[in-house]
Amino acid sequence: MQCPFCNDSDTRVIDSRLAGEGDSVRRRRECQACKERFTTFETAELNLPRVIKSDGVREPFWEEKLSSGVLRALEKRPVKSEDIDAAMSRIKKKLLSLGEREIPSMRIGELVMEELKHLDHVAYVRFASVYKSFEDISEFREVIDALEKGGKNEQLTLTSVSTKT
Ligand SMILES: [Zn+2]
Repeated sequence: MQCPFCNDSDTRVIDSRLAGEGDSVRRRRECQACKERFTTFETAELNLPRVIKSDGVREPFWEEKLSSGVLRALEKRPVKSEDIDAAMSRIKKKLLSLGEREIPSMRIGELVMEELKHLDHVAYVRFASVYKSFEDISEFREVIDALEKGGKNEQLTLTSVSTKT
């Protein structure tokens, strides 16, 4: 951790104790460069963010809703359960590591699409059709074309699809 006085990155923990109700750690640190001492508090931020829906309504993170959406997209597809589990936990890990308290549902959808793109292209298109609420066949075509092109223009295509809906 960087020294707040001189910005040197060589600081050492000289004392460490539980604080609050045992849910945080208080650390005394000493900068090895300027010898100043300072205190840090460490707490775990392990809550999944709340979800901001497109109408602005906030709701608790819906883990079941998320996994049922993913499973529906993957129905009858040749994808191993353990690969699905791994993808789900990567999504959750990414959400946790963002450290945000709230996240737009659209961002979550994008994380899912990213995983599905690697798992199974049919599932990817299925999920995209629900998530982007495709209204006609041309929107499917756009996504499929983008996939076939190797995904280079995909972000662009999906963005243009989403502004239409
Ligand atoms: Zn320092």
